Amino acid sequence: MTYREIAEKEDVLLCVGDCGLAGSHEKGWSNPSRGTVHWRDRRITRMGLRRFLMLVAAIKHSHNRGQPKWLQVYEQNSYAYHRALSEYRVRLSRKLSQTDRANVRYWMGKDRVLGKPENRSVAQWAMERD
Ligand SMILES: [Zn+2]
Repeated sequence: MTYREIAEKEDVLLCVGDCGLAGSHEKGWSNPSRGTVHWRDRRITRMGLRRFLMLVAAIKHSHNRGQPKWLQVYEQNSYAYHRALSEYRVRLSRKLSQTDRANVRYWMGKDRVLGKPENRSVAQWAMERD
């Protein structure tokens, strides 16, 4: 499997440096209005697949861009986790989302939404321990 094949399966365009911003492709970024993931082609790792799928999620969920950051990051993680498992038979370990979970806990606390019943599944995910 290559990132090109994954991009095809995810129905996004892939730029591996032709945009002229090649340096930015290491971490990768996505352009939701064009449906393009900018990414340096490389051997696939769990960490890379997760990051790539999160960039895909940012495109697929671009209608949610007005959402608070904690919800966006949660949805990107959720998409990456479920998609990796169902489409690519890769289980992404909890450890990989450690930093995102800590950030989401912090952002939710700051927004005072951690205890709200409608955010329960997000809060539970954010509170998971490794
Ligand atoms: Zn590019």
